[in-house]
Amino acid sequence: MKRKGNLIVISGPSGTGKGTIVKQILEKDDNLVISVSATTRSPRTGEQNGKDYHFLNKDDFKTMIENDGLLEYAEYCDNFYGTPKSVVEKALNNGNDVILEIEVQGAQKIREKCPDSVSIFVAPPSMQELRARLKNRSTESDEVIDKRTAQAAVELKCAGDYNYIVINDRLEKCVQDVLSIINAERYKTDRMSSFIKELSQN
Ligand code: 5GP
Repeated sequence: MKRKGNLIVISGPSGTGKGTIVKQILEKDDNLVISVSATTRSPRTGEQNGKDYHFLNKDDFKTMIENDGLLEYAEYCDNFYGTPKSVVEKALNNGNDVILEIEVQGAQKIREKCPDSVSIFVAPPSMQELRARLKNRSTESDEVIDKRTAQAAVELKCAGDYNYIVINDRLEKCVQDVLSIINAERYKTDRMSSFIKELSQN
């Protein structure tokens, strides 16, 4: 059966562990592909252009918007982030489920544009734990940590708009929960209807 892939949005506050979860689900399910976003933020140590992000200056990012090259984009803590359209469409048409690891404004735009997308919100077990994780990973200055913690409170208010909420208390369990959701979505009646139609014609 050839099917179109599902678009899976994964959001949650910075420091909640989305990146690690996404990395592990990609290793465990080979039908999943990740969309590499464009951003105007500077690369962190070890990040590679084209693999972690497409690192662009503000003018190039603006050009992508003007050329309708982005499925969605948003400003987050003074930088722009966006999902390149053509790569996502190609992967979906190829039958892959595509993961967008994006913040809440972008997730809202995807829900509006692609109503059959699946959205999953990853919540931290507590706000204290979130702050501790942001501090421990030592990738941001104290000022940026404060901004991201304040932003987390805004993001939590949007959790109710998502199709699913998972809690990243124990990583292994959370990864399993996300994989279960993605797998169950593949067998939704709506998504299987063309297969059933084909069966009944033979
Ligand atoms: P970071 O700077 O920590 O890599 O990402 C900051 C936030 O931007 C995270 O919540 C991340 O999920 C989000 N983000 C990454 N790529 C995109 C994108 O293409 N679009 C949107 N809307 N958010 C993104």
